[in-house]
Amino acid sequence: MLTYPALCCQNQSAPGLFSKNYCKDTKQPPLYIVKLAVAFTMLKIAYHTLYAHPLPAGHRFPMEKYELIPAQLLYEAIITQDNLFAPEPLDEETILLTHDNDYWHRMKTLQLTDKEMRAIGFPLSAQLVEREVRICKGSIMCAEYALQYGASLNVAGGTHHAFANKGEGFCLLNDFAVAANYLLQRALVKKILIVDLDVHQGNGTAALFTGREDVFTFSMHGQHNYPFHKEQSHIDIGLKDGTTGSEYLSILNDTLPKLINTVKPDIVFYLSGVDVLATDKFGKLQLSIDECAERDYVVYNLCKKHKIPVATAMGGGYSPDVKHIVAAHCNTYRIAKDVYNL
Ligand SMILES: [Zn+2]
Repeated sequence: MLTYPALCCQNQSAPGLFSKNYCKDTKQPPLYIVKLAVAFTMLKIAYHTLYAHPLPAGHRFPMEKYELIPAQLLYEAIITQDNLFAPEPLDEETILLTHDNDYWHRMKTLQLTDKEMRAIGFPLSAQLVEREVRICKGSIMCAEYALQYGASLNVAGGTHHAFANKGEGFCLLNDFAVAANYLLQRALVKKILIVDLDVHQGNGTAALFTGREDVFTFSMHGQHNYPFHKEQSHIDIGLKDGTTGSEYLSILNDTLPKLINTVKPDIVFYLSGVDVLATDKFGKLQLSIDECAERDYVVYNLCKKHKIPVATAMGGGYSPDVKHIVAAHCNTYRIAKDVYNL
């Protein structure tokens, strides 16, 4: 279990802003000093202990990656604890900018049907719902931090199979759609480009933004991967089974610069799923870990060149050996940090 900076302390004698008192119990600096240190860290990463949600034994979703990613980033000194922030639950009003009232109400009162939950793939519980609303808040905050500092990443999220009125494929709420509608409603941006490079099509995202001109959806995915009925994004590229890393990168390098030039987004939402790896048990593509990192570099480098902020969510990854999943995700943080000088 990860711990956050020792946010001390409630029991020191009335610490004012200029107090020099350290906590008598822990000898830690007072809270305001810790807060000042956090305030100057520009690489902001959303992470909450609830992200690693307990699942029944033998469940096929690799939930442990949500603890292992920040642990590995800390171990490799790519980040410190100060880079991590814990998102609060998102308010209902913001959820309802994107999701139907009936669907959300039945979710929060734990009344989704067994059939609905089978499509989602997780057992419904209050803790699961809390996890989802914290992830959504995390993606909103990542978008705001990206506007401020250039790039920000959510350790979870990328729940692109969630529609306005239903969830599926391990997704209950669509965090990128929620964050996009939030930014637009507050007029923080005018145009958003969603670059979805998870191996599965972003069907929920595509459906949520059909006919919209302020959110442009781009999904590049395995044509024969789930979902078997594809929705229509603004641009879809369905890749054939066995697509190699060099073929993949060549298509991405051909497509993304034109897209950036045409859409001219104020912010990019990047879904960096690592189920494109050859080792993935669901994905049908053949990228090596280095080619997956090159994919991330192409996205960040192009956006940086055009001075476009990028908010990233991790999306899927189902390699049988979790170390492949974690290594590929950690590369995404390393590259974002390097390219954006964070
Ligand atoms: Zn996926």
